[in-house]
Amino acid sequence: MNKFKTILFDIDGTLLDFKASEEEALEKVFAMHNYILDEHVKGTYERINKFLWEQYELGIIDRNMVIYSRFVKLFEELGIDGDGIRFEDEYQELLGEGHALMDGAREVLEYLHPKYELYVVTNGVTRTQMKRLQDSKLKDYFKDIFVSEATGYQKPMKEYFDYCFERIPNLDLSKTIIIGDSLSSDIQGGNNASVATCWVNPDSLDNKEKISVDYEIKQLKELYSFL
Ligand SMILES: [Mg+2]
Repeated sequence: MNKFKTILFDIDGTLLDFKASEEEALEKVFAMHNYILDEHVKGTYERINKFLWEQYELGIIDRNMVIYSRFVKLFEELGIDGDGIRFEDEYQELLGEGHALMDGAREVLEYLHPKYELYVVTNGVTRTQMKRLQDSKLKDYFKDIFVSEATGYQKPMKEYFDYCFERIPNLDLSKTIIIGDSLSSDIQGGNNASVATCWVNPDSLDNKEKISVDYEIKQLKELYSFL
């Protein structure tokens, strides 16, 4: 008998290589406007973006505030005379085209799909995430896809998981696990929702906050060792 029945998968940094998609989209949108994208600009953008998503996870600002203020703030800080709102829309369009897979993603889903009930739990923009799942041909492995934008909540909030769990038939919390690369949203979320957790940590990051983790892996294929 399987230890688990239901698997909740994060998408970005877990199944899809979001870093690669982000970098590509950023390069393209900066090139479209003939703005310079050097290490300083990249670093500044990353700092602003990371800060805003942290505020989002804490429930301080909403998703629209994150995405529609990051380039506005960036342009302000760098003294670029540009329309940060329109720039975001163009960036989102390009981001939706990126769907590079993480190592082993398709193989692992192919293996898990007949044995478990797979669901997507992702913080993000519905239109973008659906397009990326479709283009990467991962969508059909999942019974349902829960994008935070459509739920009114987000990982790691318990309310987000309550919303998902109401829509998963015959859910058994003791046989449910969340797999994701973010300690603050996926693993903390799993703890808030009282399900098991698996941290995908390819870069061997430190668990500074000492968030409780049930399983830790560097590569998706290591899932075979306990699933
Ligand atoms: Mg992630």
